[in-house]
Amino acid sequence: KNGVVIVGAGHAGVQAGASLREDGYGGPVILLSDENEPPYHKPPLSKTFIKDQEAKPQPLRGEAFYTGSAIDYRPGVRIDRIDAGGRRLELSDGGTLPFDRLILATGSRPRMLSLPGSDFSGVVSLRSLADARLIRELSAQSDDVVILGGGFIGLEIAATLKAAGRKVIVVEAVDRLLGRAVAPIIASHVRQRLEATGVRILTGTTIARLEGENGHVSAAITASGERLPAQMVIIGVGVVPNVELAQTAGITIANGIRVDQQMRTSVPEILAIGDVASYRHWLTGGDVRLESVQNATDQARLAARTVVGHAEAFAAVPWFWSDIGDIKLQMVGLISGGDSHVVLGDVNENRFSIYHYAGNRLLGIESVNRPGDHMLGRKMLGAGFSPTPQTVATGPDGLKAALA
Ligand code: FAD
Repeated sequence: KNGVVIVGAGHAGVQAGASLREDGYGGPVILLSDENEPPYHKPPLSKTFIKDQEAKPQPLRGEAFYTGSAIDYRPGVRIDRIDAGGRRLELSDGGTLPFDRLILATGSRPRMLSLPGSDFSGVVSLRSLADARLIRELSAQSDDVVILGGGFIGLEIAATLKAAGRKVIVVEAVDRLLGRAVAPIIASHVRQRLEATGVRILTGTTIARLEGENGHVSAAITASGERLPAQMVIIGVGVVPNVELAQTAGITIANGIRVDQQMRTSVPEILAIGDVASYRHWLTGGDVRLESVQNATDQARLAARTVVGHAEAFAAVPWFWSDIGDIKLQMVGLISGGDSHVVLGDVNENRFSIYHYAGNRLLGIESVNRPGDHMLGRKMLGAGFSPTPQTVATGPDGLKAALA
């Protein structure tokens, strides 16, 4: 028996290994990573790690997990090719590895910008622990930091480096922050609070080129010619899924590796999970590729169920969080396509939730520093319960009573 081989040991891959054992899978489980670290949590990298020279990475599991549950973790191994017909992987060291089932958990990587000067040292992006270590090191030598991209990662980094005493400028091409990922109320709230801490935010602005001295970046020049001094430029303009392995093996790709409701790709012995997987979402009927820890771990759990022979469809409630300075943002459900909303709490107090509706159906909730609303929302959406806007207006107690 060749067992299950998992490519990628991020949030998805490690959970898939754990869930296979929890579900009683008895064959070999081999977990491959092209990184040279024990698998670690990514969210703290942008929120805390880069501002604290002493911070340690947070391992996803203790060392005993790998030995105790007989997960054969192999760091520093890059997979170059899948022989789908022969059920074999070709490794970067020239070896091959056979599999019965393959789980692709290859994640995503930062989108690069082809900007004149982007090859200067000091121009970085944040995905891995190695990236975070480099940013931390550069931060110690940088007074001025320019961040390209006003998405979650860019804004988290902005808040974190500002708190560490850097001068921070965020440059965003479109006229608002956080793309269409959040409601306009949230986007402007985040902007206001970040600006109040001294972060400068330029929306509707693009960078034409970077300048350098002795090979190291020294400034970012906007399209209108403004010179923004920077000893570090962080590019945070989104990610692209790592689909190439699957693509060259002839597996169907559609904005990610396309999977069915049981995480199977177009080659049924090969599954895909996490940031790299695209699928039709049960909640909205739309095609999505979600980039969140919840999506990665819940898909991993389901993939393990598929491998051990259960035919269950993916039905996890999507949720996400982001900490941007003193804003703890939590989201549950998928809010695109909403046509009305109800606000609970007080925006000025930095504590509020927005309940989004399409007609009379609750699509999702965005909460700022109201974790109780978020948790209750997960219960409601998980139970398929859609309170009326009138019930929402009665507040958490009214909602709890209605759910009970
Ligand atoms: P990854 O975690 O990216 O793991 C994929 C792994 O596969 C990587 O180690 C990669 O190197 C490896 N790999 C790829 N190709 C190969 C190959 N050919 N051979 C071998 N190995 C390969 N989500 C939230 O919900 N909340 C947050 O607050 C949050 N904060 C974040 C902060 C940062 C700085 C980052 C980078 C992400 C954050 N996310 C957050 C997103 C979340 O971390 C991702 O959605 C999650 O990591 C996806 O897990 P994954 O296992 O699919 O991919």
